[in-house]
Amino acid sequence: MATSSGEHERTLAFAEIALGQIKALRQPASPRNFEVWYSYATGYYPSLNEMVNDILSRTGTLSEHDADSIYNLYLSPTRLGDKIDKVGARVVDEIEQVMAMVDAAVGSASNYSESLAGVSRSLPAADREGVRTIIESLVGMAKEMELINYKLEERLSASKREINQLQRNLEVARNESLTDPLTSLSNRKFFDQTLTRAVAEAATDNEALSLIMTDIDHFKTFNDTYGHLTGDQVLRLVALSVKQNVKGQDTAARYGGEEFAVILPDTVLRSAVTVADHIRRAVMSKELMKRSTGEHLGRVTISIGVATLRRGDTVQSLIGRADACLYAAKNTGRNRVICETDPEVSANEKTAAVA
Ligand code: GH3
Ligand code: MG
Ligand code: MG
Repeated sequence: MATSSGEHERTLAFAEIALGQIKALRQPASPRNFEVWYSYATGYYPSLNEMVNDILSRTGTLSEHDADSIYNLYLSPTRLGDKIDKVGARVVDEIEQVMAMVDAAVGSASNYSESLAGVSRSLPAADREGVRTIIESLVGMAKEMELINYKLEERLSASKREINQLQRNLEVARNESLTDPLTSLSNRKFFDQTLTRAVAEAATDNEALSLIMTDIDHFKTFNDTYGHLTGDQVLRLVALSVKQNVKGQDTAARYGGEEFAVILPDTVLRSAVTVADHIRRAVMSKELMKRSTGEHLGRVTISIGVATLRRGDTVQSLIGRADACLYAAKNTGRNRVICETDPEVSANEKTAAVA
C-alpha cells in the first residue's frame, strides 16, 4: 500500500520520539522497548500512556520488566487482533468459493431442465429407436446431475466443518485477546470494557456497583530479594486468591503489573468490603515456598481500596475513589481494606488538599 509523505514523516517522528525516550532512559533498544515507546509516542492506547506515565512518575524509569508487562497488556493482544482479521478473511474466502460452486451447480441444473424440456418436445414424434436414445440420454443427464449434486454436498459439508473450526479459532483468539497470559485473569482491556458497560447499566437500572482495587505491599523489595520470576509466581498466587473469592457475575482482572481489580455488579459497599477482606486474608494466609529449592519466602500482603458507584460518577471518578482508598490503606500501615466511608480516606484527602 502506498504511504503518503505526510504519513511517512509522522511515522518517522514517532520513531524518533521512541528512540529519544530509549536513549534518555538508557534502555536497551530492543524491538519490544521500541514497540512500547513507539505506541506511547502515537498515543494510540491512552491506557498504555497512562500506565507508562504512572510508572515514570513513581520510579523515574521504565524497567525492562515494566516494558514486558506493558507489552503483554496492551500490544500483544493487538497481534491477536490481526489473527482475528486473518480468520475473518479465510471465512470470506471460504464463502466465496462455495458460492462459486453453487453458481456452477445452478447453471448445470438449468441446463438440465432445458435438456428435459427439449426431450419432452421431441418425445411425441420419436420412433422406438428414438425413444431408446432419448431414455439413454436422460439416464446420462440424471447421472451427471447426481454427480454434480454429490460433489456440491461434499463441498458444502467440508466447508461447514472448516467454518466451524474457524469459529472455534476465533473464539479462542477472542478469549486470548482479553486474558492476561501470566495470571489467566481478565486483562486491562477486558476490565476497561466491562467497567464501562457496568457503570452505564448500573446508572440506567439504578443498581449498586462496587469496585475493588488491590496492590501488593512492598512487592519491589520482594522482587529485588527473590527475583522477578519468583515474583511472577507470587502474582499468579495472588490472582488465584482473588479469583477464588469472587462469584459468577463479578469480574476479576489484572489492572496493571501487581495490581488487581474486581468489578462487583449489584453489590453495595459493605458487601464489597467483605469480599475484599476475604481476598486480603486469603493472600496473607499463604506461606510462600520456592518450589525448586524448598526455600521459605515468608508471606506477602496486599492493600485494598473499595468504592461504590454514586450518582453522576464516571468510570474515571469511580476508579479514582477506589484508588484514593487504596492509597489510604498504604499510608495507614498496608495489609488493610479501606473503603470510601472510612475516616482514613477523608483524613488522607484533607492532607492531599492542603499539600
Ligand atoms: P507498595 O507497598 O507501596 O505498593 O510498594 P511496592 O514495592 O509494591 O511498590 P509498587 O506498588 O509501586 O510496586 C511496583 C513493583 O511491582 C515494581 C515491580 O518490581 C513489581 N512488578 C510490577 N509488575 C510486575 C510483574 O509483572 N512481575 C513481577 N515479578 N513484578 C512486578
Ligand atoms: Mg503498584
Ligand atoms: Mg505494590
